[in-house]
Amino acid sequence: MKANRSIGCSVTECKYHAKGEMLCSLDQIKVAKNVTSTATSESDTECATFEKE
Ligand code: SF4
Repeated sequence: MKANRSIGCSVTECKYHAKGEMLCSLDQIKVAKNVTSTATSESDTECATFEKE
């Protein structure tokens, strides 16, 4: 699987994860807020492209 060295990711449960390397295999992803209010910390954001393997 192709690994995109510009997108680091540790979510190995995602079907787009490059496995073997802590990278995403997609050319691009979408990052979104997981709160409706203003994001104030890392935990308020997430990869919206995630799909369970
Ligand atoms: S789509 Fe998102 S969660 Fe999935 S491997 Fe890529 S960066 Fe990680």
